[in-house]
Amino acid sequence: MVRNVSAVISEIEQAEKILVCGHIMPDGDCISSVLSLYRGLSSLGKKVTPAVDWKIPSIYMGFPHTDKLVCYSPDLELPDLMIIVDSSSPDRIGGFQRVLKTHVRTVLIDHHKTNTYFGNVNWVSPNYSSTAQMVFRLMQVMDVNFDEELALLNYLGIATDTGFFRYSNVNSTVFEDVACLVKYGADPAYVARVILENKKLEEFYLERDALDNLKVSCSGKFAYSFLEKRNFDRYGLSEDEFSGFVSQLRSISTVEVALFASESFKGEAHVSLRSKSYFDVSEVAKAFGGGGHERAAGFTLTYDNDLQEALEEVIEYISERLEER
Ligand code: 5GP
Ligand code: MN
Ligand code: MN
Repeated sequence: MVRNVSAVISEIEQAEKILVCGHIMPDGDCISSVLSLYRGLSSLGKKVTPAVDWKIPSIYMGFPHTDKLVCYSPDLELPDLMIIVDSSSPDRIGGFQRVLKTHVRTVLIDHHKTNTYFGNVNWVSPNYSSTAQMVFRLMQVMDVNFDEELALLNYLGIATDTGFFRYSNVNSTVFEDVACLVKYGADPAYVARVILENKKLEEFYLERDALDNLKVSCSGKFAYSFLEKRNFDRYGLSEDEFSGFVSQLRSISTVEVALFASESFKGEAHVSLRSKSYFDVSEVAKAFGGGGHERAAGFTLTYDNDLQEALEEVIEYISERLEER
């Protein structure tokens, strides 16, 4: 067994009260990893609190136990151990960063290349498709019993972080592990339906607006677009409720790098970056204070005036590096 995995298990064994914490702007991998550990470690007799310091996007509410997820509160009863999943740096866990300043032991389980190793024990492995896959391996070693519900929760993260088994992070171990989860009762068609076929009509209107803002440059290699707060307001949707547009941009045949920015409120936008085969977008995200993977990364952009104006610097940064190749 990998040394870090033994260290993770030893921390878990020594703890009674465990807080399992995911990242802000949660995605499927985050919710899956938090809730799988919640279910799995509870079944071993631990007192587990699942936590994400953010509003949970409504599509995930179709999964069990999402109602148990707690946000940060100053009244939080400190656990013996905080397990942080799918989070590359302290800012990603929102208010739970405060727990890092206490005596509470911390374990990181993560697959981001840009991880800053901020836990007492850090099991960080970019070779894994998803944190959910690491959680699967961990719970197998710990002899956790996988029922249908746990299998479904665990499957969710592997499916979503691999773009439903399409991305370059897919290898044979992914299929081996999800084959086990499907045997245990996870329903791939249910997960695909809930995640992929659950769009609000207003999201299509937002996609139309995003298409209006689409620009392609660098001889077709770079596609980018954005949505401003007023676009979301027009259809009464919040930024969290929009599944994004960056993967559509990457699907253009000539495109290597795709960028999509969505304004949460005036002065702040989330920027999503994707690449297709060779450009390392995690380096760009890191340069602007974020992080991620080689083919999928992101960061928060803050600015005084206009989003489009603020994006120019990022666009120039990427274009220069793309033109070099
Ligand atoms: P997305 O574009 O889907 O929000 O994120 C793509 C990847 O980049 C995910 O793996 C996510 O964890 C990472 N990422 C997105 N935004 C941020 C950010 O603000 N900071 C860091 N460190 N990583 C981010
Ligand atoms: Mn994530
Ligand atoms: Mn992930």
